[in-house]
Amino acid sequence: MIFDAIVVGLGAMGSAALYQLSKQTPHVLGLDQFSPPHTLGSTYGETRITRQAIGEGTYFVPLALRSYEIWRELEQQTGERLLTITGGLFVGQEQSDVQMHHKPGWLRTTIEAAESFGIAHRMLDTATLQREFPQFKFRSNDIGYYEKEAGFLNPERCISVQLDQARKNGAAVRTNERMLSIESKGDLVTIRTDQATYQTRKLILTTGSWIAESLRDTPYSNLLRVYRQVLYWFAIRGDYRQYTPDRFPVFILSDREVYGFPAVGGPAGGLKIATEVYEHSTSPESVNRIVSQAETQAMYEQHIAPNFVGIGPECVKSAVCLYTMTPNGDFIIDQHPTNPSILLASVCSGHGFKHSAAVGQILAELALEEQTRFAIQAFRLARFS
Ligand SMILES: Cc1cc2nc3c(=O)[nH]c(=O)nc-3n(C[C@H](O)[C@H](O)[C@H](O)COP(=O)(O)OP(=O)(O)OC[C@H]3O[C@@H](n4cnc5c(N)ncnc54)[C@H](O)[C@@H]3O)c2cc1C
Repeated sequence: MIFDAIVVGLGAMGSAALYQLSKQTPHVLGLDQFSPPHTLGSTYGETRITRQAIGEGTYFVPLALRSYEIWRELEQQTGERLLTITGGLFVGQEQSDVQMHHKPGWLRTTIEAAESFGIAHRMLDTATLQREFPQFKFRSNDIGYYEKEAGFLNPERCISVQLDQARKNGAAVRTNERMLSIESKGDLVTIRTDQATYQTRKLILTTGSWIAESLRDTPYSNLLRVYRQVLYWFAIRGDYRQYTPDRFPVFILSDREVYGFPAVGGPAGGLKIATEVYEHSTSPESVNRIVSQAETQAMYEQHIAPNFVGIGPECVKSAVCLYTMTPNGDFIIDQHPTNPSILLASVCSGHGFKHSAAVGQILAELALEEQTRFAIQAFRLARFS
């Protein structure tokens, strides 16, 4: 059998692509070396922030907005809760140029994006921040952007639901099967895995932190860097009800490089808070997946104690997760440089999840229609030449 499309890598992007493809044709196959959702890639840890005014670039906004629609469509189809609206509080100093996800002026661009796309928001001065959000320690001259429709997604559930829906639509899903090699002849692509050989008209590579391998021997072989990131859940000492999703928003303190979530794991589940670290690059094979006591203590001293009221130093749990970054933090969504029958998507930086449902649609459109209704010029490989 010749498939219309094969998707290799069924994390956030691949499960979305397979679901979208399966709405058009049942002759599609998705495969993964592990059994997604799993803990070894980039889509792990209970919650991912979603927001609509995207400070990483206004060109991301249509992806975020379309993804909201797809999450709601999936919720209606399955009865599963994927998206929880909590409001989003994004705080910084007004003229700050501190980078988030390699993007300077993130808070400014967030406000610009909200204004140009008509996204509902409120601007809060320092006194209002202190009054409305006593869980935080604000600095003088902090300003807050509050987005009503921001919230969090459950990444593991999003993957499972999209794979289930793809199966229902007739797609084949194979897990614990690793792709080893790719060959092309004419318009057909043949992939060999550790278990079988398959032929397809289009191959979509959504292999996350493993994707650099696919760009070997091309001008982009040195483009991507993988960075180890740690998610922490610190104990709530104060009143737990101050931190539940109905009272506490997702937040990003952009100047202090801290972001986090309301408490979703009960009084003993802790508050999930993280920072971003770009000191040393690594790989999915060699990354240290153990979080040391020293790291936890440094996180508490540098990022928790100065910024929060009522959060204790006890770390309830922690998890290692991987960012895969281009030099400017933008995504790659494009044809492979040496073969137009192969599409690749590296949407694996620290803000890709919220866009993943729309990225799936883009990939399905490119694979089946050779074009997409979304503007993806910013994600072409040639931008990094
Ligand atoms: C700590 C952290 C916090 C984040 N926070 C947010 C957030 O708050 N909001 C947000 O929007 N985004 C966030 N992100 C980003 C988001 O999680 C990622 O953009 C997204 O999960 C990337 O998904 P992916 O499909 O590219 O990679 P993955 O989910 O890792 O999927 C890649 C898959 O490919 C498979 N694979 C690789 N090679 C092969 C092979 N040869 N054969 C078969 N299968 C293969 C792997 O097993 C894996 O399952 C965060 C990321 C991290 C790490």
